Amino acid sequence: MTMSKIIFGIDVGGTTCKCGTFSEEGELLRKEEIPTRKDEGGSLILPDISEYIKGVLADMNMTTEDVAGIGMGLPGACLEDGTVNKCINLGWGVFNAANALSELTGIPVKIGNDANMAALGEFWVGGGSEYNSMVMVTIGTGVGGGVIIDGKPLYGFNGAAGEIGHLPLVEGETESCNCGKKGCLEQVASATANRMLAESDMPSSLRSVPYISAKVIFDEAKGGDALAIQVTEYVCRYLGKGLACAAGMVDPEVFVIGGGVSAAGEYFINLIDKYYKECVFHASRQTKIVKAALGNDAGMYGAAKLILGN
Ligand code: ZN
Repeated sequence: MTMSKIIFGIDVGGTTCKCGTFSEEGELLRKEEIPTRKDEGGSLILPDISEYIKGVLADMNMTTEDVAGIGMGLPGACLEDGTVNKCINLGWGVFNAANALSELTGIPVKIGNDANMAALGEFWVGGGSEYNSMVMVTIGTGVGGGVIIDGKPLYGFNGAAGEIGHLPLVEGETESCNCGKKGCLEQVASATANRMLAESDMPSSLRSVPYISAKVIFDEAKGGDALAIQVTEYVCRYLGKGLACAAGMVDPEVFVIGGGVSAAGEYFINLIDKYYKECVFHASRQTKIVKAALGNDAGMYGAAKLILGN
């Protein structure tokens, strides 16, 4: 690679694709969002990204020769060889998305799961940048996770490494998770809130929320909703337990928490930390839990970092 090359970091979401153009030094040169067109089985998404990239290159008076590569984060299980193992959100089945975009653009492409890419972005220039290994947990509508070991994202054999949100932590749950299982960590917020709302007459802003995610719970608790505060205690207890499980397998140097909870602040982190310490193996008890720093741009940064390597 020469110093003058650029890198694209694309974070493909269910509504928009966040597109970053980076220098090899990691400077974000430009950033745009294009709509994710999910019609026709998601077959328009890669051609749209290809057209966008060609437009940027024309704009910058550059050719494909000036590009070191395209990194792409996708909302599904991804293998290191470029195969996606279904992106249900996008309507995609199993195929090699890296090869497909590479054929359209003439540029080398690497892919990774979006949560893993967010972790890699935070590892590179965000909350994890001072460490060698980390586990990131993103708390939004769902609970996502990513594992970085020695600077590399862990893909796993099936592309499902870091799926902390679907750790089966709750025994006897009767409601179903979005993934179809029962008792996932991701489900604790909605299942607990639904149960408490049904069992009490307490007035709560949660009664008018169609889907109660962990982020909703934290936001409403911060706003002073009494029932949300009770559910928060529960959610943080299970998040602490989830981190302890991750520590038992990976023993990372740091945990980075992103999404809703990082905006909400220290209170939630401290609560997660309290429950983490209660159930983690003694050797990992002092592991730090810190806030993410890059917000919604983390996935874009991580996708670009995938091209740079470690
Ligand atoms: Zn699940």
